[in-house]
Parts: sequence; C-alpha cells; structure tokens
Amino acid sequence: MRDFVSVSAKQQKINLLNFDRKGMQAFFVEIGEKPFRATQLIKWIYQEGEYDFDQMTNLSKPLRAYLKEHCCIIAPDIIFEQVASDGTRKWVVEMGGGNKVEAVYIPEANRATLCVSSQVGCALACTFCSTAQQGFNRNLSTAEIIGQLIAANQRMGEQGRVTNVVMMGMGEPLLNFDSVVSAMNLMTEDFAFGLSKRRVTISTSGVVPAMHRLTEVCDVSMAVSLHAPTDALRDILVPINQKYQLQELMAACQKYIATSPRGFITFEYVMLEDVNDSPADARALVKLLKGIPSKMNLIPFNPFPDTKYTCSTPQAIERFRDVLYKAGIVTTVRKTRGEDIDAACGQLVGKVKDKSRRAEKLQHMEAMHEH
Ligand code: SAH
Repeated sequence: MRDFVSVSAKQQKINLLNFDRKGMQAFFVEIGEKPFRATQLIKWIYQEGEYDFDQMTNLSKPLRAYLKEHCCIIAPDIIFEQVASDGTRKWVVEMGGGNKVEAVYIPEANRATLCVSSQVGCALACTFCSTAQQGFNRNLSTAEIIGQLIAANQRMGEQGRVTNVVMMGMGEPLLNFDSVVSAMNLMTEDFAFGLSKRRVTISTSGVVPAMHRLTEVCDVSMAVSLHAPTDALRDILVPINQKYQLQELMAACQKYIATSPRGFITFEYVMLEDVNDSPADARALVKLLKGIPSKMNLIPFNPFPDTKYTCSTPQAIERFRDVLYKAGIVTTVRKTRGEDIDAACGQLVGKVKDKSRRAEKLQHMEAMHEH
C-alpha cells in the first residue's frame, strides 16, 4: 500500500512515463546530460520493467541521485477487473480525483488487442454512445495512456502480452493530440513496445484539422467513425459533423492514406435499426467512399441504459454488407466482444466527474420533454 504522503510527494515529481523518446531527450539535454540517456532510460522502463533508479546501473551515480530526487515512474493502477465469458477483460483504471477510465483486453487466437482510453469521458455528444452520456472531465496524460498498456502487460504476463492497440476506448483521441501522439510513439518505439504501425490504430470521429496535423507527425493506422452516408444524418449521430462536413472529412482521409502504413482507412459504421441501415444508405455509402481505399467495419449497436436506439436485425446487417461487398468494399461485421460485462464498443463509462454537466443537462431536457 502506498501511503498518502508519499503519493502526494511523488506527484510533485516529473513522471518519466510522460516522455516519448524525443521528449526524454529534450529533458536530459535540459538537465545537462547527453541525449543518449533517453534511450537508456526508455530501455530500463519498457524493456526491463525497472522503475528503481538505483538499479539503473549504466547511469552515473550523480544522475541516479538526481532522478531519484526529481523524477518518478508511475503507471496508473487497475482497480477492478471483470472477465467476460469470451475471455474479454474490462479493467477499471484509477486516474485520481474521483476519475476512472476503462480499458478492454481482447484475446484472440494469435493476438491480443488492448482498447485504450484517451480522455476521462468525452466532450463530443454522439447520440448512440454511452461514454458521451457521462460528460467530460479531462484529457489523460501520456503516462496515463501508455500506463494502460503497461498495466495490461503486467496483469497478463508474457503469454498474454498485448500485440495490438486500438485507441477506441473512452474519449476522442485527436482532441488530446500531443499526449496521444507521444503515447503512440512509445507504442511503436523500438526501445519501448516496438509494435508495428499496422498494429496501432487511432480512431477518430472526424476532427479534420487534427487529422491533417497527424499526417505530419505520425503514421499509425487510422479508423474513422463514419456512421452515416450523408451530412444530414451524420449531423445528428456524430454532431462534430456540423463543424467538419463529410467532404472535408473524406479529403482528410485521402491525405492520410498517402502516408498510412496500410494504404487504406478503416471506416466504422454502427448499425442502428431504421436509422442508417437501409440498402439506400449502403448505396449512398458506396458513392461517398468512391476512390478512397477503404475497409468497412460494421458494428452491431451495443445498447446501454436509456438509449433510444436498437440494433439492426441480422438480416438488415447482411443486406447492408452485401451492397458494400458487391461494390468491391472489403466489409467485416465486428464480432461483439465482452458484451456480458458491458465492455463492448460504446459501453465504456468508467467514472467521470463531469465538468460539462452534460448528464445533468440531459436529465433536465428529458424532464422538460415529459411535461
Ligand atoms: N472517439 C473516437 C474513439 C472511440 S472509438 C471515435 O469516435 O472514433 C469507439 C467506437 O465505437 C466508435 O466507432 C464509436 O462510434 C463506436 N460506438 C460508440 N457507441 C457505440 C455503441 N453503443 N454500439 C456500437 N458502437 C459504438
């Protein structure tokens, strides 16, 4: 058990998990050390799992003493675990100040995918997403994002090591740009997790300017939460579309593909009965995606309390898929994982000290509706 005093004292220190290699180099240069110290430190932390500065034997004694006095290496703790019947694990991760986020571990035959959160809650208001109903508290730091991966590997051991990461947990990763990019740099960094860029995916609701910025600094795989083939419908389902319309979004996708390691974008499309699941919607989607190398991931809607939506029927999903398929678009229907523990897409809620007071406003609006 950590006692309160030492935790608060440690929190005054610089958490080295907040630095990617470049950031760590800049830090060492600033304290009058050589940049190569960054690689040494990163190897200790991520390859050796060594958090005790005294054990970092290739650092000089004065440097070890300096680091001990001014720095710390602290990953967030998993405080609660639920294991679904299909082996999916949902972890509640403690972020302090009454905030908790969720991370989901999804084992498959030859890989293990970790779904990572980027924010406490979400500032966007997609109508079919449970995280959105929680409101928003704050961005996670790089340490808190990469810490979810560290915690997962510690929990699962060598056999269950994470091989793929999707930034598809709570939050909109591109609205927490710098911390998310540094965390993804650590995921793909040879001296840290060394995951291939094909195995790290950022998912966005379509924050177009940030997508352009990302093209310049990072080339992990990209997924875009599309959910509607027209602006009229997307304006409702994914309200950020009112700001960045489909035409702009598609142009940003084209630009990203030019640098992407996969040469295509994965589009996510939640299947909502009688909302966006007709063959006409599918045909409109084919038209929209014309000329964009894409893979389509249809996600059966996962319900949550008080939602007004229902999931499309299997027949409707099949019909929809066939239209895309016949048009030559590679289309998969996402298998729902961890449903029995509310760990499926759009069901992650954590515990959000809502600063946007969205939950309160929604309740207020509903009360007005009822009267
Ligand atoms: N904000 C980012 C990251 C979240 S990813 C984004 O929007 O891409 C989570 C994925 O699950 C997104 O595609 C999201 O639209 C989808 N999703 C949200 N709620 C869902 C629900 N209730 N059922 C199925 N998928 C959902």
